[in-house]
Amino acid sequence: ITFLKTLPKAELHAHLNGSIPIAVLQELAREYLASAPSPTSSKPLSNDAIQAGIDKLLGGPAIDEISDFFTLFPAIYAVTSTPSALARATRAVLSSFLEGECPQCMYLELRTTPRENQEMTREQYLRVVLAELHRYGSVRQAGLIISLDRRMGEDVLRECLDLAKMLKAEGEPVVGVDLCGDPMAGDMTLFQKYFSEAKGAGLGVTLHIAETAKNPAQETLQLLSFCPDRLGHATFLDEDAKRVVAEQNTCIEICLSSNLLCKTVSTLDSHHIRHYLRHRHPIAICTDDVLPFRTSLIAEYALLLAPQPWGLGLSEAESATPRRAEHTQHNNVAAQAAAITPQIARHVQELY
Ligand code: IMP
Repeated sequence: ITFLKTLPKAELHAHLNGSIPIAVLQELAREYLASAPSPTSSKPLSNDAIQAGIDKLLGGPAIDEISDFFTLFPAIYAVTSTPSALARATRAVLSSFLEGECPQCMYLELRTTPRENQEMTREQYLRVVLAELHRYGSVRQAGLIISLDRRMGEDVLRECLDLAKMLKAEGEPVVGVDLCGDPMAGDMTLFQKYFSEAKGAGLGVTLHIAETAKNPAQETLQLLSFCPDRLGHATFLDEDAKRVVAEQNTCIEICLSSNLLCKTVSTLDSHHIRHYLRHRHPIAICTDDVLPFRTSLIAEYALLLAPQPWGLGLSEAESATPRRAEHTQHNNVAAQAAAITPQIARHVQELY
């Protein structure tokens, strides 16, 4: 555990609303349940629905298939639907990753989907999150990835992309854009121009890809044609897709507990991380959503070292061998981040 605690780590795949510490979520839920609807806005969810949602989260993840996972978010969204609740949630997430005697990581790229409601515009949403990031001082410690949900229509995509470009131009630590959301939703043809525009504006691109066995191979190849800098999950790549990923040396964000609990991978032994480790392909160990999965970055690394069948049974040396990952960089900040993979931890020690 000392080895894991002192290993310099980066968290590159953490969804804000999926990473709220459970105690903070309970506090926000209590306040939401006690509050009366304001004269200008109605509550997004009934008190009963919130209570049921929070109880479900407290009971630990009971996910039969990945689609169940997305039903956890309406209750979380309801209690983070005001600027002050969102600020508190963001502060708690940042603190859980970056603060304390032994922070979980030395660099964090937090991602979130800009939401609009009666309380705030998408721009206000992002500015609330960014204001909290500023409390951590420097771009070096935390960057923001703006998530584009697969359900978004063109008008919302346009708004989110314009916001990403504008905030980056203002000097805000917006490091990239992400494709996320229900893996079966949306038409990816619609998204191509927005990701290529993002790249043109110097933003990094990371895509949730082939997260389920049902994602068509053709869609996966289409997403790879966007030339992403990193890929989330990449669980079900066929041989053609694997070839492209190997050629482009695209860093894979690996979320072990998430895949096991969403049942897209049945055992650690059959996890696709084995393929990437075997091929010495750049990977980053990440948490995805610590709230429903009850995990932490150290716990995810512990899964690498724990003996089989509880873990992958890697040695400390295998978990921390230096490795080049320059191709995966979003920019200089993300260069440091992408560098902090199990294979390249020593290289990053030099950076800090
Ligand atoms: P937010 O973007 O801060 O609101 O974080 C929660 C959102 O992230 C969810 O509503 C999903 O759209 C997305 N998300 C979280 N985990 C996953 C995942 O494993 N796959 C795809 N999308 C995800």
